[in-house]
Amino acid sequence: MFKLANDRALLRTFRPLDRKQVEITREVSLPLRVTDYLTWNHGRRVFLVFAAASGEPKGIVLQADSGGPLVPHMCEWCHAVAPGTRVGMLTARRDRRSTIGILVCSDLGCRERIEDAADRAGANVHPAMEKLLHRMDRFAARLDFDSRDDPERTADE
Ligand SMILES: [Zn+2]
Repeated sequence: MFKLANDRALLRTFRPLDRKQVEITREVSLPLRVTDYLTWNHGRRVFLVFAAASGEPKGIVLQADSGGPLVPHMCEWCHAVAPGTRVGMLTARRDRRSTIGILVCSDLGCRERIEDAADRAGANVHPAMEKLLHRMDRFAARLDFDSRDDPERTADE
């Protein structure tokens, strides 16, 4: 669980590399208390801010591919299987030159899918949500988050 007080706090969860790509739309009404993760989109950009194991929330800008094939794919994060229109490749910038792709629910609606699956199985949703956050964390570990704090940190922080 984490709190986002304002736009600035939200932006700070992203790496400087990603910040200019972040579009805070009206869907995001701050301040916010987030239990597991927050996602919204703007055009083909999908934004994710999740509760990272380190304690500090991490933000990632993902770019949607132009529609995957219609054959079913499995989301690498929640393991839901859906056609290419619903599970597709999203890419994040690793650095200024390279990107990393991941095959996930195109709308990052993993939470709803996990809740549905838990409902159907009569199971507790928490273990699956923990795994989801863990997988997001593993993906974020491949991006350079250590560079996040230094270059653009302003004097009053
Ligand atoms: Zn998913």
